[in-house]
Amino acid sequence: MSTSEPRLRIAMQKSGRLSEDTQKLLKLCGLKLNLTDRRLLAHVSNMPIEIMRVRSSDIPGLIMDGVCDLGIVGDNTLEEEELDRKLKGNKADYIRTTPLDFGGCRFSIAMPEEFEYTGLDCLNGLRFATTYPQLLNRFAKANGINVEFCLLKGSVEVAPRVGLADGICDLVSTGATLEANGLKEVAEVFRSKASLIQRAEGFTPAKQAILDTLLPRIHGVMKAKE
Ligand code: ATP
Repeated sequence: MSTSEPRLRIAMQKSGRLSEDTQKLLKLCGLKLNLTDRRLLAHVSNMPIEIMRVRSSDIPGLIMDGVCDLGIVGDNTLEEEELDRKLKGNKADYIRTTPLDFGGCRFSIAMPEEFEYTGLDCLNGLRFATTYPQLLNRFAKANGINVEFCLLKGSVEVAPRVGLADGICDLVSTGATLEANGLKEVAEVFRSKASLIQRAEGFTPAKQAILDTLLPRIHGVMKAKE
């Protein structure tokens, strides 16, 4: 194939909790890709598709800015970016093409074990360490409480013990990390899974044709797993 032919550009997490399942999904769709080398933009050898491997947190923006055509990302990351961009008056359009069956987790408020939790009202005025302040803010507003934030990109669980925050709001799957850090989950803010998203602007006919081949395959793989 000539290099001038358009390729559908898919953004996926380079390494982390979503990368293995994403890679598996693409392989089950029949895409031949070699992601073992260091290239961050890799061509699929048997389809006019290229895979861009990036940080998960960069994927929503790449779709909203139209740099990538498709992306696979957690709903938490997606909605945080959407809320943040809207707040700043920036472009935040995308289409959620299809929900996927991996990456499931809860975004929950957790407090020190000794904290006496009596309901959401008792969190009013407290300070929370989180990576996703907009998601927490939306939840707080919807529930009529005011909370303060302290932004941490990782190791959020340590914040209460070092006096940085009263509690945390973080992604949880088993709860083992919370427990190991003397915390207990008290309220679920958001339930997240991975989603396939696409840019909001229309595609050229050539790219649309690639998408029309790929999407039924993705749906087929999802259905076969049910
Ligand atoms: P990146 O470093 O790529 O920007 P990240 O720091 O969110 O992203 P990961 O910890 O690999 O990287 O998490 C990727 C996504 O996996 C999360 O945003 C979330 O949607 C999903 N996920 C599923 N289970 C969990 C969990 N227990 N903890 C954190 N994330 C989880």
